[in-house]
Amino acid sequence: MDNQAPPLEMIFGNYMAWKLDETSWCISFMEGTEYIYLLEGTEKALLLDTGYGIGRLRAFVETLTDKPVIVANTHFHPDHSAGNGEWEEVYLSAGWETDAPSVLNPGAGPVDLNTLPHPDYKKIILHDGDVINLGGRSVTVLEALPAHCNSSLFFVDEGHRMLFSGDEFESHQTLMYDNSSNPEAPYHVEKRIENLRLNAMRLKEIVSDGWYLLPNHNGTPISLAYLDGYLQLVDSIHEGTAVIEDKLNHRFIEMDPKAPELCRVRCGDVSIFIKKQEVLKIYGKRRAHEL
Ligand SMILES: [Zn+2]
Repeated sequence: MDNQAPPLEMIFGNYMAWKLDETSWCISFMEGTEYIYLLEGTEKALLLDTGYGIGRLRAFVETLTDKPVIVANTHFHPDHSAGNGEWEEVYLSAGWETDAPSVLNPGAGPVDLNTLPHPDYKKIILHDGDVINLGGRSVTVLEALPAHCNSSLFFVDEGHRMLFSGDEFESHQTLMYDNSSNPEAPYHVEKRIENLRLNAMRLKEIVSDGWYLLPNHNGTPISLAYLDGYLQLVDSIHEGTAVIEDKLNHRFIEMDPKAPELCRVRCGDVSIFIKKQEVLKIYGKRRAHEL
């Protein structure tokens, strides 16, 4: 092993936090590129995501709030939910079972999940429209249609004008290839791209000026304009005007065994990673409104 390589904990479990406002924290890790959120009400706090399960996130969170912490996942991918076993129970989407192999297969993440204090933590399913009441602050849950994955939830904090978009909408790219590690998981490229559009349309109906998107990667908070950017990207794929780039320009995705099959499809500020042979099935074939 390269003696110069940093220990895993330095990358996956080195947490630092800053305040978004007086009762909301962003906790960063992965060398500052990935985020976990902590939202505090007068009675309870809500933690959105648990990271890779490295580096004692729970102890870190307890330095920020003394309120009882409700733990929820934006979706069931290893960098968001492998740390769930630090807690006794976690709220998540019913879709977690479809994406489960991406977290639970041996070697899916950098830590043996059986070494966490509660490897058999209780899973509580959240549904569309559920409201998590924190005391003077409530957060509404929306189920995303499968686009980035099969298990995404959006969390809407109307009082603070914050919309937590998970990995479905972020500033650089949305990963749109099948990343469930589940051969039984459904994947239809047309439907995935259409779901990306429908999710953006739904979120646009909720937000207004003064709101922000708070994704889990590559910058936060970010402008609502990215929702329009993704809508334009979907149109440009159907029109055949989106730019297809074979070079991914992404340090972590380039290490993925799927990388040789992937391309980046770009329109303006936003892009997606997707299997090139999949996107070519729909690229330039018809316009979105004809679907
Ligand atoms: Zn993800």
